[in-house]
Amino acid sequence: MLSVSLAEIERSIRNVPDFPKAGIQFKDITPVLADGRLFRGVMEHLLAGVPIGGIDKVVGIDARGFIFGAAAAAILGCGFVPVRKKGKLPWTTHEQSYDLEYGSATVAVHVDAIRPGERVLLLDDLLATGGTAAATLALLETLGAEMVGMRFLIELAFLGGRARLGNHPVTALITY
Ligand code: AMP
Repeated sequence: MLSVSLAEIERSIRNVPDFPKAGIQFKDITPVLADGRLFRGVMEHLLAGVPIGGIDKVVGIDARGFIFGAAAAAILGCGFVPVRKKGKLPWTTHEQSYDLEYGSATVAVHVDAIRPGERVLLLDDLLATGGTAAATLALLETLGAEMVGMRFLIELAFLGGRARLGNHPVTALITY
């Protein structure tokens, strides 16, 4: 039995209307992070069923994915790999661009972050249109990662992001 219910976690997510721009309802997870019992509960749910020893690298997406990804890697005792916005990583990178509502964005990963065949778990706070996760997935496939799963705290299912992530196992704890 997990120590915190998903309903309790959901009640602690703050909905902020019109941030960062009009029409967007921002899912603010900082109240969850600020409560140690809830943060630990999120980690227990995110890692439910993930076998210790079954993951080589946890990948977290810039920036809130780092919070859950780093905690997960420490719990699992495996490596952590940051996928960052273009221009932030100091070493040689692979880059992948993707379309936003207006313009485009680019994510990057170090070329030596993952070895071919390493088993990878991808974590992020929220799956919206799936553009960020799909671009990250393309980077990981370039590196030869074996994708074990992609897990999100929140999924905005009405945006259909899951359809852009192929046949990989996608899990979300809270769906809107
Ligand atoms: P997308 O590429 O559209 O799936 O957007 C995913 C990224 O944008 C995630 O890393 C989220 O952190 C952030 N994001 C998108 N929409 C929201 C939202 N409504 N509330 C909070 N974060 C969001």
